[in-house]
Amino acid sequence: MIYFCSLASGSSGNCQYIASDTTGILLDAGLSGKYIQNSLMHIDANLENLKALFITHEHSDHVKSAGILMRKFGLTLYITKKTFEKIESKLGKYSMDKVVFIEKEKDIAVGDIVVRPFSISHDATDPVAYAFKKDALKVSVVTDLGHVPLDLLSNLIDSNLIMLESNHDVEMLKSGPYPYVLKQRILSTKGHISNEVCAETILRVRSYSDRLGHVILGHLSKDNNTPELAFETVKSILEEGGLSLDDDISLDLAYRDRVGRLYRIED
Ligand SMILES: [Zn+2]
Ligand SMILES: [Zn+2]
Repeated sequence: MIYFCSLASGSSGNCQYIASDTTGILLDAGLSGKYIQNSLMHIDANLENLKALFITHEHSDHVKSAGILMRKFGLTLYITKKTFEKIESKLGKYSMDKVVFIEKEKDIAVGDIVVRPFSISHDATDPVAYAFKKDALKVSVVTDLGHVPLDLLSNLIDSNLIMLESNHDVEMLKSGPYPYVLKQRILSTKGHISNEVCAETILRVRSYSDRLGHVILGHLSKDNNTPELAFETVKSILEEGGLSLDDDISLDLAYRDRVGRLYRIED
């Protein structure tokens, strides 16, 4: 059994919970310690099983409570060395015994969960996304990326569940209030991916493997997207691609400001 829950996702803060029956992991720390603790209690997570905090990149919506979470739950921090150097001064009190440097494409075990970090294209120092495996079950979480190269796809294949960024609607972004430079940044290969690219990526993953049964749309923009638009756009592209949301795949949203559904996935 592998458990997954998005505690919140988006530019106001990110944190996801991944667990087996004996090991709990947090992914990113972009919300207050209090919100994360309350959210974990809300889903009845076993706080004593929490072992690790994995970090994707140094943007504040992913790291701002990293030090607090390490102290609150006694977590070991898993992070690339370059990202660590970016956030070290903001961690507060911590011990280097509780820091593990990860390397891309190298699996690392935490209890009975095996975690694989892999490279993503984003305007941060050394950004990564992760796949979490418990035996044959696999959950992948990929947000904050500007495009989807083949090597990324190969890391997603065989996932049972993917939380994938569905950041913006391109027309809303282009006609919206953001300054030109920021629009260009978001649209670039180091920015964020759109609803369409998200949907096409899901179709490509499914074309390699039909194990993928659950998709969660993440990191939705507050200004350049709406939950309804993201859901409907992705739904219609998946259906045009021949997938049925009743029979083949479930589609869900990770909310910006509240806890999502707790998934329990078994073989
Ligand atoms: Zn972000
Ligand atoms: Zn970011």
